[in-house]
Amino acid sequence: MVSQLDIAPTIARVLGITMSTHGRPIEGVEGWGCSDVILIIADSFGWSLYFNYLTDTKTISCLTSTGRLYAVRSVSSRTSPAIASILTGLPPKQHKITDTERARCSTLKSIVERASEAGLKTAVIMEAEGAATFRGLVDIERGVSKSLEPAQFDEEIRRETISALSLFPRLTVCHFLGIDRAAHDGGGEDVMRERALAIDSHVRAICKAARQKTLLIFTSDHQPHAGPFKTEGKALPLILARI
Ligand SMILES: [Zn+2]
Repeated sequence: MVSQLDIAPTIARVLGITMSTHGRPIEGVEGWGCSDVILIIADSFGWSLYFNYLTDTKTISCLTSTGRLYAVRSVSSRTSPAIASILTGLPPKQHKITDTERARCSTLKSIVERASEAGLKTAVIMEAEGAATFRGLVDIERGVSKSLEPAQFDEEIRRETISALSLFPRLTVCHFLGIDRAAHDGGGEDVMRERALAIDSHVRAICKAARQKTLLIFTSDHQPHAGPFKTEGKALPLILARI
């Protein structure tokens, strides 16, 4: 079964980088001939939310049908440890990153830093404190203020990601927070639908801005903590597609 820990080694193999992780590269993806990778993490985009809106989220649906879809188990119910696992390929017990402060102090190297060290241009676009932990370690680091409203926050992540892509990074990581924030703010089904459709439109815009032969990876960090799609299940969508 594919795991969140397999994402970093899969990216490493596609980019031709050596990286020691607890995961395994997903077989066959390197044969797609991709030279660039974009990893989109949509916070709290759990399996039931994904499945519920699949007919409305046309871009995500299209990526699912042209690429590969996996149901992966989340390794943590919290954002920082889950994203650290996605980026290092290590379980939370091993990377010990529980929050942004620990991420700042950690000497472990993520796939983004490994790629930078290998001479590949890299970009990270996320909320400002998280982005700051990559300062000086990646080529393009863009932070977005958490004080923005969820919809506006995601719009900014999209704008900064597209701006970063104009500089042709080989590896780009971006993190959308709108669904998670809407769920914590008590958003109902109508708000969640709106946020899911917005994510779909952001993914579409990013795909349009990407170079040909890009491996697009779309996934989430954990299940929603609140709202209509809160669930005890741990399955998250992981989509890999060549664009
Ligand atoms: Zn999260």
